[in-house]
Amino acid sequence: MKKTITIALIAHDNRKPDLVKWVQSHKEELSNHHLCGTGTTSKRIAEATGLDVKAYMSGPLGGDQQVGAAIAQKEIDMLIFFWDPLTSQPHDPDVKALLRIAVLYDIPTASNPSTANMILVALTNRK
Ligand code: PGA
Repeated sequence: MKKTITIALIAHDNRKPDLVKWVQSHKEELSNHHLCGTGTTSKRIAEATGLDVKAYMSGPLGGDQQVGAAIAQKEIDMLIFFWDPLTSQPHDPDVKALLRIAVLYDIPTASNPSTANMILVALTNRK
């Protein structure tokens, strides 16, 4: 039996193309779920795919913290966060805080496409 879940989507600038590509390649499955994400990431995904993505603020302006708060409120089932392993971010403390909250609340988290593939299958096919 299929389960509807809420997925938060975030990508740093250099990784936005990878995340858009991942969402495009899973568009049909993702259309069955609730999507949300940080401001620019959500906008890019919605434009590229036509999917409805609830946009929080841009990451550097507090969006990462908003997603973290949503996790703490038990509103998010899966976090896809393609963070940039090669560039430091001005909002690094917020990034760290979000990843901390995701671990604390045991939220399945993917930082690359192959992990995102596996978590999506595992979560959406569970009874
Ligand atoms: P953005 O934020 O989607 O608004 O670019 C992502 C981030 O840098 O955390």
